[in-house]
Amino acid sequence: MRSTHTQRLPQYLQKLENTDMFNMIITGKCSKNCSFCFTEEEARKEKKYDDMSLDYIKEIVEKYEYKKRGHVLKLLGGEPTEHPQFLDIIEYAAKEQIPVYLISNFLFGTKIQEGILKHIDTFTSFLVNGAELAEKNRLKNFAKNFNKIAYQFARSKQGGKQKFTLAQTIPDTHYDVINFTEYLKSLKRELDFSNLGNIRIGLGLSGTYLLHNKKLGDKVAEILRFNRENRLGTQFDCQFPPCIFTDEHFKEFETPSFSLWNNVTANPDAKTFPGGICHMPAFDLMPDETLLYCYQTQSAISPKLPDLEKSVDPETLKDSFIGKLGAGLDHVVSQRLRASYLEEREKRPTLDECKSCHLYPQYCGSLCLGCYL
Ligand code: SF4
Ligand code: SF4
Repeated sequence: MRSTHTQRLPQYLQKLENTDMFNMIITGKCSKNCSFCFTEEEARKEKKYDDMSLDYIKEIVEKYEYKKRGHVLKLLGGEPTEHPQFLDIIEYAAKEQIPVYLISNFLFGTKIQEGILKHIDTFTSFLVNGAELAEKNRLKNFAKNFNKIAYQFARSKQGGKQKFTLAQTIPDTHYDVINFTEYLKSLKRELDFSNLGNIRIGLGLSGTYLLHNKKLGDKVAEILRFNRENRLGTQFDCQFPPCIFTDEHFKEFETPSFSLWNNVTANPDAKTFPGGICHMPAFDLMPDETLLYCYQTQSAISPKLPDLEKSVDPETLKDSFIGKLGAGLDHVVSQRLRASYLEEREKRPTLDECKSCHLYPQYCGSLCLGCYL
């Protein structure tokens, strides 16, 4: 979520705020196999990608001046803890004092758990996949890791329970048969929620099935009610078209401290801007050096990072007007990727249903490119 500090800055300077650095997809492997996973099956099971090497991670950290520019090393997969050198990566980050944001399924064994606890002060946030834990006796192992790490993290140097988030994805198929209220209650019986800050809700953003899909809105509402009853914060993943909610939903969740309407229409994390322009992509850097706008747009936007970097001379950038305003290589690269997004999005006409929608374009910018691919 953007800081209030960012919201106060004039617009031309907001663009030069630190960019959200790439998610480092350090491995394609993941043995959990969630039904909604964006990573293709061939990457998860058949090793389509090599693991990202520690040397390459170091190269990115240095080239993009993580330390100087205050960037966070965001580790993602697949399942990042299945990278054979995961603990070496954490050691390196700890030694260099680069904060780590870990996005993980928390189904690892004791060795990884101990390695994380040893360097708990290096971690700045956790986003933990809390979906589909009822199968294969997963919850037991998950709880062992969750309860110990969340407890220590809440008491660590950079931590705090508000930075520990459990992700719930509402898949794009069979979502109507999932009872999220019962599911979350079953998690609460095993997990110590006193060290948990938020539940993050995500939608499988893979199609126009989202439009006016009130059943989907009902599922989001089940999670929102659980959060309200358990005093947990709610985070929204990138896109939530307001047409999935009824007027009753908007009324039910309006309180002085939380507004569903505001979250889906004003929060840049949760809406796409007019014309389906995605404002805050994920920027996934793959082990083979391709940089994606986000996983959903992979088939349309996947340039090689070295190609995007070509023609940027760091010295010239430093002396340029935008360089003096604080722009770094991260800004140049992300602007180029945004330009590709706009080009691709414009090739797909906005849906007639959106053009005639009373919320378009002021309150909802239609569906993002990811939904067309
Ligand atoms: S393009 Fe769509 S799926 Fe991708 S980050 Fe943007 S809103 Fe999310
Ligand atoms: S503009 Fe389209 S996606 Fe947005 S609320 Fe209206 S119908 Fe739904």
